[in-house]
Amino acid sequence: MPHGKLLIFTAPSGAGKTTIVRHLLGKYGQLSFSVSATNRPPRPGEEDGRDYYFLSTEEFERRITAGDFVEYEEVYPGRFYGTLRSEIDRILASGRSVVFDIEVKGATNLKKFFPDNSLAVFVAPPSPEVLFQRLRDRNTESEDSLRVRIARAGEELSYVNSFDRVLVNDDLATALAEAEAIVGEFIGVMDAGE
Ligand code: ADP
Ligand code: 5GP
Repeated sequence: MPHGKLLIFTAPSGAGKTTIVRHLLGKYGQLSFSVSATNRPPRPGEEDGRDYYFLSTEEFERRITAGDFVEYEEVYPGRFYGTLRSEIDRILASGRSVVFDIEVKGATNLKKFFPDNSLAVFVAPPSPEVLFQRLRDRNTESEDSLRVRIARAGEELSYVNSFDRVLVNDDLATALAEAEAIVGEFIGVMDAGE
């Protein structure tokens, strides 16, 4: 496998990973997003192959059996998410660094697989209450799905000090600037002004 870098963003749902990762992908052309596979249905505006590979449960299971995943988790009951080996290979072969948006257990596993060339950043909300409010205001989840995500958040928040860096996402502009600095340093960009 070529010697590229892996940048892992992890946090509970609603903390702001997607917002931060999208910003970084726009800022740094050296980064490419690892599109995960999932069996959850697409949200309005999400595209297959860009946001996720949206698979049926049967197809997801087939790909587990085929050994296609570097890691996968049943993040919520009946909802699977996984990182495809082929995504990492494709991006590293292109000479770019890989960016992941992944929950805490998957992030822990990726760190174990790639201890020498990865950086894991935990995106922390200012408080659990703010996290829940953001999740509600995003208006993407059913009442059931919201409940499940909030129930899982407590355990996920306990991972705050388990990774390389903590990025507090309170004021968004401040968080984006800090994210740029962390990433610029990691991928070796001297001047982030371009
Ligand atoms: P995640 O990918 O971690 O689930 P999102 O990036 O979807 O989180 O963010 C959750 C919601 O919070 C979105 O509606 C997003 O626009 C909003 N959001 C993200 N960061 C901030 C912030 N610093 N202040 C206020 N709202 C934010
Ligand atoms: P969402 O449904 O909000 O897009 O994602 C739910 C959770 O699954 C988020 O915390 C997200 O980071 C995580 N996730 C997305 N892709 C993967 C993956 O490939 N593996 C793992 N373990 N988690 C993922």
